[in-house]
Amino acid sequence: MKIAFVASEVTPFAKTGGLADVAAALPRALHALGHEVRVFMPLYSVMTNKHYEIAAVETAQHVTLTLGQFTYEFSVFSTTLPDSTLQIFLIDCPELYSRPFLYTYDADEHRRFILLQRAALEACQRMQFSPEIIHCNDWHTALLPLMIKTSYGWDRLFQSTRSVLSIHNIGYQGQFGVHTLGDIGIGDIVTHMYSPDLASGHINWMREGIRHAHSVSTVSPTYAKEICTPGGGHGMDVSLRQRARGVVGILNGVDYDSWNPETDDTLPVHYSIKSLQGKRHCKQALLTRSELHVDMETPVIGIISRLAMQKGIDLLIDSLPQLLSTRDFALCVLGTGETQYVSFFTALANQFPDRVYFENGYDEALAHLIEAGADMFLMPSLYEPCGLNQMYSLKYGTVPIVRKTGGLADSVQLWNGQSGTGIVFDHYDVPAVLWAVNTALDLFKDNIAWQSIIRNGMAMNFSWEQQALQYVELYKQTG
Ligand code: ADP
Repeated sequence: MKIAFVASEVTPFAKTGGLADVAAALPRALHALGHEVRVFMPLYSVMTNKHYEIAAVETAQHVTLTLGQFTYEFSVFSTTLPDSTLQIFLIDCPELYSRPFLYTYDADEHRRFILLQRAALEACQRMQFSPEIIHCNDWHTALLPLMIKTSYGWDRLFQSTRSVLSIHNIGYQGQFGVHTLGDIGIGDIVTHMYSPDLASGHINWMREGIRHAHSVSTVSPTYAKEICTPGGGHGMDVSLRQRARGVVGILNGVDYDSWNPETDDTLPVHYSIKSLQGKRHCKQALLTRSELHVDMETPVIGIISRLAMQKGIDLLIDSLPQLLSTRDFALCVLGTGETQYVSFFTALANQFPDRVYFENGYDEALAHLIEAGADMFLMPSLYEPCGLNQMYSLKYGTVPIVRKTGGLADSVQLWNGQSGTGIVFDHYDVPAVLWAVNTALDLFKDNIAWQSIIRNGMAMNFSWEQQALQYVELYKQTG
């Protein structure tokens, strides 16, 4: 199949979260299955300090595009994903993408992603690439289904193109005032938009994607159900339920080329399910790196997270001080995000300097070391579309403590004394977190049980090869 895959971030070029991991690993797996996949993303200025070989796409240089009253010039460059021949097409428009961060609160934020979408379609035209599927990801690309039916509907190139919208997080919807309508562009797009939104003065890109995509998917079966309910839909549940063919949930895979303790080059020592000795070395390295002054028998809990409400940090504010005062464990936290959560972890590290380490930053190598060196990994998310770190934790023999929501519910099973891969709690409240962490700390002392949980987790396989086949099936059914 010919597939155009459009995303706002793709690892290793640009990443703020799990979307970037998926936008690299899924196309890579589809490419390996023999499909012709072309990935489109912005060429952000924050990427240019890295050394990727890029080549100009000759037919798509200095292209002028008018968005309402604004005229931009963009050029398309190509590169390949590392260790792959998968082609990545980079949309270069310094006026819009030369910013210190991938996402902004600037007044032209909507134009940054209108341009991405239109430039991806214009690039297809200029390369004469006629995709059978255009795979859109989250709100940044959610207008594409409408664009191919309206503004670009005249072009025979897209006549048989079908669209798939994957929702990676429904909490981020791309909602802009109606004054931005003129910038979206050409044709009779507005007549197809959701009139109650327009009447209340805004356009919701995610909703337009949900209403117009030929298929809608999301990143775990449980999240697919949750977002169709008023409690989990963030206002999109009615539009989702109105879709005749519903929402398909496909659990994300793990890129085991990057996340495997047997081969991970960022680790001081490798280890495997057959020999866990190396994990102790990694723990020692983590204690040293994070200046935690505890002995090797003290359990270490790891957290790697965007510090946002979604991740359940409020529960930790109400439970970690009490847990640290009553139980013997160390905590290693890596994350960036909202100020109140940064302040909380900073204060916690000051209060327990020997037992709590907090790094306020984004550090890929430290993330790998935490996965390998910690004994447990805590994810008390309020909601979690899929979540990747719990799956990395399973592979690294680091027992996940998770809330039963979204992809966490689909990937971690509560230890029941014989089977299970982690500690899973149901309710989003402090007693539940206290129960979960205390249970994990108690189990840690039972070496036989603990080793069984670790090995059950390490034996799980969430490879992309399997998951990519489900996407191929979805593409085939997208008629
Ligand atoms: P989300 O996309 O909601 O942030 P996911 O669990 O799906 O959450 O994916 C997060 C990804 O980002 C994982 O690969 C995780 O390791 C990585 N990550 C998150 N925060 C950091 C950080 N501060 N440093 C390094 N990696 C991080």
